[in-house]
Amino acid sequence: MSEPIGDGKLEMKQATKEVKESENVAEKYSAMSVEMSVGDPPAAFTAVPTHKSVKKIQFAKPEEKQEFSRFPTKTGRRSLSRSISQSSTDSYSSAASYTDSSDDETSPREKGQVNSKGNSDFCVKNIKQAEFGRREIDIAEQDMSALMSLRKRAQSEKPLAGAKVVGCTHITAQTAVLVETLVALGAQCRWTACNIYSTQNEVAAALAELGVAVFAWKGESEDDFWWCIDRCVNMEGWQPNMILDDGGDLTHWIYKKYPSVFKKARGIVEESVTGVHRLYQLSKAGKLCVPAMNVNDSVTKQKFDNLYCCRESILDGLKRTTDIMFGGKQVVVCGYGEVGKGCCTALKALGAVVYVTEIDPICALQACMDGFRVMKLNEVIRQVDMVITCTGNKNVVTREQLDNMKNGCIVCNMGHSNTEIDVASLRTPELTWERVRSQVDHIIWPDGKRIVLLAEGRLLNLSCSTVPSFVLSITATTQALALIELYNAPEGRYKQDVYLLPKKMDEYVASLHLLNFDAHLTELTDEQAKYMGLNKNGPFKPNYYRY
Ligand code: NAD
Repeated sequence: MSEPIGDGKLEMKQATKEVKESENVAEKYSAMSVEMSVGDPPAAFTAVPTHKSVKKIQFAKPEEKQEFSRFPTKTGRRSLSRSISQSSTDSYSSAASYTDSSDDETSPREKGQVNSKGNSDFCVKNIKQAEFGRREIDIAEQDMSALMSLRKRAQSEKPLAGAKVVGCTHITAQTAVLVETLVALGAQCRWTACNIYSTQNEVAAALAELGVAVFAWKGESEDDFWWCIDRCVNMEGWQPNMILDDGGDLTHWIYKKYPSVFKKARGIVEESVTGVHRLYQLSKAGKLCVPAMNVNDSVTKQKFDNLYCCRESILDGLKRTTDIMFGGKQVVVCGYGEVGKGCCTALKALGAVVYVTEIDPICALQACMDGFRVMKLNEVIRQVDMVITCTGNKNVVTREQLDNMKNGCIVCNMGHSNTEIDVASLRTPELTWERVRSQVDHIIWPDGKRIVLLAEGRLLNLSCSTVPSFVLSITATTQALALIELYNAPEGRYKQDVYLLPKKMDEYVASLHLLNFDAHLTELTDEQAKYMGLNKNGPFKPNYYRY
């Protein structure tokens, strides 16, 4: 399946359905958000009006939850052909890991491991690293208090009781907090990595120690990647009924190998741009068999994860790998979307001279108004000290442009896949590759010129630094709510289509995170609400509002 670009994206957005406010759980959640504090009772699904404006909440009855039939299949190693995302096995690696794969060359697939309870339904690098992983998860929890509060509120109600969630995401401490939240809410989880480099081995071990069937390690081969996905799905006596995907590979695998899963699955929650494009393609082809939630385009994902996560982590990734000083350096940032805006803001704040390249006049105008020079890449390529790609596109930096860069130029990518810089074109005999640090290569031209390539053109921040837990809490809370909503929705509420989460759910997620800041929201007066035509409890903006 090829990755759609351009019109595909546009069409996807047009065709994506917004869940109607009145139909879903978000209204009940968000109605409470202003009045509830972190310690309040669990939020849930069916709102029953009680006194004042606070709503009492009931979950669906346990007997209403669907049980699924056995789906016996054979587990085994396969020779698996690669059909989709080139990014999945080519992007990311976690610099946050205490342990990397170099200390032990034995493939985890060759090891027989059991956790302390004698459970062997997992495959990680080294189960003995679980204690380190637990510490990482504990640290992440500290800055993911909104997700933790959702866990606390809902765990007695178990809104995911009976849910069998198969997940394919980056396996980091922050993801572990999400997985453990789902477990606390009643779900059974089997988990695998959406990328061969991003797994924090000790975190995967901690999850396995807890009893989560996790199949992932840092530095998987392509064959391992698909084997792990298969082991997650293909389990005798266990069939997933919910899918949480990042990139669409898991969804694709199930479609290809185990289509009958979709007969009873309640839905797919997808986080990434790429995965959402694929869902749209399926929908357009009439092949989407279950409802899907597009989390990527939730305001609380796009306007926070993409912007603020990158604003903070771009500098971290560059510093850790190159020790660079930013003041006075000339940097070109390709793409002025959410990620590009975050990068440019951070670089400018440290005194870098920032140029922007754009194809879209609106984003280009935004860059101009924000004080950046908008240029063609060729116009600045010979003078800049750093080139950073943030477009989600391919071949944004070509071999010719790499040839024209000055000595010492740093080249890196912040987009999802490793397609933005034409790294393959640098693997030619006349160029010498010198590994100088983990994730840092010097590419040396015959005349002695060298460029500094970071993470082999893979996504810099997840490859070479950590990412802020707080912002990932926003995305993870949205994912958890999307799973709860899909799992508990009465039959017929969602069709076989791609849905956007409603504005009120975004507002609810934001409200939860506001508690961290002791922020005091202004409440509309009755008169103001009437004047604005708004409900005092939201939503506060129309769906077309762009923030
Ligand atoms: P976006 O669509 O908002 O921005 C991309 C911008 O690139 C657009 O304005 C587009 O016009 C521009 N563009 C496209 N082709 C171009 C070209 N050839 N030259 C110059 N500009 C071009 O997307 P976004 O939210 O900014 O995400 C960008 C990429 O970053 C995606 O691949 C996304 O998956 C990824 N992402 C990374 C992180 C991270 O942590 N590093 C976080 C979120 C998203």
